[in-house]
Amino acid sequence: MADLIIMAGNSSDEEISAVIEKVKSLGFGINLSKGKEKIIIGIIGDTRGLSEEIFLSFPGVIEVINILKDYKLVSREFHSEDSSFSIENVLVDRNHLVVVAGPCSVESMEQMIKTAKFIQSCGGKILRGGAYKPRTSPYSFTGLGKEGLEILKEVKKQTGLPVVTEVMTPEEVDIVAEVADMLQIGARNMYNYRLLERVGRTQIPVLLKRSFQATISELLSCTEYILKEGNSKVILCERGIRTFDSQFTRNCLDLNAIPVLKKETHLPVFVDPSHGTGKRDLVIPMSRAAIAAGADGLVIEVHPKPEEALSDGFQSLTFEMFERLMKEIQPFAKIMGRTV
Ligand code: PEP
Ligand code: MN
Repeated sequence: MADLIIMAGNSSDEEISAVIEKVKSLGFGINLSKGKEKIIIGIIGDTRGLSEEIFLSFPGVIEVINILKDYKLVSREFHSEDSSFSIENVLVDRNHLVVVAGPCSVESMEQMIKTAKFIQSCGGKILRGGAYKPRTSPYSFTGLGKEGLEILKEVKKQTGLPVVTEVMTPEEVDIVAEVADMLQIGARNMYNYRLLERVGRTQIPVLLKRSFQATISELLSCTEYILKEGNSKVILCERGIRTFDSQFTRNCLDLNAIPVLKKETHLPVFVDPSHGTGKRDLVIPMSRAAIAAGADGLVIEVHPKPEEALSDGFQSLTFEMFERLMKEIQPFAKIMGRTV
């Protein structure tokens, strides 16, 4: 089995092309990653019957690796350096701690403008807000839909903040993509393979939230569906898993997942302590913990009047708390070598 072909960093273009042509002639796709030291050609497709021998004699090839995992393009073996990319003007990398903030749902123009301006004044870099909301009960508020997208568009125009918003079905990707600078796939849709493939066929960054019932390996396999289609701008988001305590917390924020993911994959890892705890009082301490554990960014629910929010008010921070959060995370970000 052959999954990754490792070539010397100084291989010539002709040598690289020769290997790529061979892979393609055998009916496989390729994913090329050019690093300083190494050039890695990922072979896409069912490689179980593919012998390593075929490639070893090509000039420039150092080794051929089998990956005995369900994913390869997301793995560190495939891409050893941290991936970094921009969401509009916001750089996601190991030197920054990106704060994404906003209400759970887009409810009105006034609510969004107020929130956007406030989070921006405190150093928040990306605005969140759902126009299409997956809700446990179909009788709960399920979002303003297109009207919500129009609001996000206008707020983006007025503030310049990039916007992340959820997309729930493959059919809605085009319309959401007209406004979103990053497409959110929610926890409930993490296993929606057609949706994953569809966003993989765009070049828009994706925020993929871990399902509350998913193992880390399942999260990585689902991510592979996106990368396999050609979009490698994916941020993984830990947002809490379901355990046994529902009295004090809504979910259990799995901090283990942060260093595990950072080791297994080259993709950025964000943490959502709002859904991860379900209680506004827990959001600041768990934000500090997430940064200390290695998170590249935070996703925080904030509402001008949480008591009136149409969804997730109990876990949304007030403006005053958000301001406090932004101050309290500073020393933690600094220790981790990041600027907020
Ligand atoms: C959300 O971000 O508001 C949301 C619905 O999150 P999750 O998919 O993690 O439940
Ligand atoms: Mn929410």
